[in-house]
Amino acid sequence: MFEKILIANRGEIALRILRACRELGIRTVAVHSTADTEAKYVKLADESVCIGPPASSLSYLNVPAIISAAEVTDAQAIHPGYGFLSENADFAERVERSGFVFIGPRPETIRLMGDKVSAKDAMKAAGVPCVPGSDGALPDDPKEIVRIARAIGYPVIVKAAGGGGGRGMRVVHTEAALINAVTTTQGEALAAFGNPVVYMEKFLENPRHVEIQVLADEHGNAVYLGERDCSMQRRHQKVIEEAPAPGIPRKLIAKIGERCADACRRINYRGAGTFEFLYENDEFYFIEMNTRVQVEHPVTELITGVDIVQAQIRIAAGEKLWFKQNQIEFRGHAIECRINAEDPFRFTPSPGRITNWHTPGGPGVRVDSHVYNGYTVPPHYDSMIGKLISYGDTREQAIRRMRIALSEMAIDGIKTNVPLHQELMLDGRFIEGGTSIHYLEHMLADRNEVKKA
Ligand code: ADP
Repeated sequence: MFEKILIANRGEIALRILRACRELGIRTVAVHSTADTEAKYVKLADESVCIGPPASSLSYLNVPAIISAAEVTDAQAIHPGYGFLSENADFAERVERSGFVFIGPRPETIRLMGDKVSAKDAMKAAGVPCVPGSDGALPDDPKEIVRIARAIGYPVIVKAAGGGGGRGMRVVHTEAALINAVTTTQGEALAAFGNPVVYMEKFLENPRHVEIQVLADEHGNAVYLGERDCSMQRRHQKVIEEAPAPGIPRKLIAKIGERCADACRRINYRGAGTFEFLYENDEFYFIEMNTRVQVEHPVTELITGVDIVQAQIRIAAGEKLWFKQNQIEFRGHAIECRINAEDPFRFTPSPGRITNWHTPGGPGVRVDSHVYNGYTVPPHYDSMIGKLISYGDTREQAIRRMRIALSEMAIDGIKTNVPLHQELMLDGRFIEGGTSIHYLEHMLADRNEVKKA
């Protein structure tokens, strides 16, 4: 096992990784920007190194600064968390070439999955069902593009091969709008991702977002840890996640889970990963793979008892998976609410000093947050300040516990989206379960209509 790990991230995930390291008896190095000097995990870490000014491009994305921090502190491995450099194949390569272990998949796997066209090809070859669409990248010939769209059937969605974060996508409803949409998306893709390649998919009208968590070791073993339903989204950003996904037959989950584990073995996957699917009319359609730990990993931890972050570290240290698929038991139900420093109605960011911070507790309540009383939320980064997770024997119990937990949560000094979560925990359609990825946007639009009237 490693003796010392450098945590190349910030916020709640930095603290989450630090806690995993402490439990494994591993010493930690926190790196931070000048905006995060006062962060809790920086104080809790065995060592800390300032890697630059607040702007991420100069600190959390500053590869030479991170590598030299690992060198001066004698760290053996680097955990990238999520976001920032976590899915950057060049960074992973640089880490390994500098003599450190990258806690994640091999650089070539990150590269394969980072390009959505090659990822889809690899998944098709591995027998994972994909959204019907173009065979790889779109050709230049407009006539060919029109033919492909006709074969798929409208509406279609044009997507950038290098896209991410919900950007670089365009829905097309008619042939008249097609070529223009393709050209515009290519231009945007080149500007935003440095790669003009686009592809086309059938646009699914009312799907749910259901994803499969996997763990694979470097000895050819792979398991799936069930699914998460992340359909409650605003602007393609997840707001609430839960496990299991309400109403999906266990047999279907087992079938798609086995496919994902099998795909991991075929592509020599290493570490934790997530296969993201759209789910419609009892069918799964692969859209992309995330080659890192995800924000919503706690809901899976609560229903399986597997510590995913510790698993990442143990796998990176070369351990063989210590359990088999049939030893994984799925028990109870877990829900996660992402707590953001933002206006709950207008969604504008609300950074600043937290003058009062009181977190809930009691049976089935977990809080993953780096925030404390008097902490100042810096304006430079993502607005998520923590995650409130509830667990119960049933979904009903998890919802009840979440309502109580939200009512106990006291945050003053900044605005948060806690009121939105309170509203959703009482929402009839959410309580029923199984809403589509468009539900929240529709609900918010209706809410605005009511306010105007
Ligand atoms: P990103 O990497 O930017 O998150 P994804 O491929 O995961 O891109 O897609 C993001 C979101 O866009 C999905 O969660 C879904 O809401 C929507 N989307 C993507 N592809 C389709 C599709 N074929 N049909 C309907 N919606 C889609």
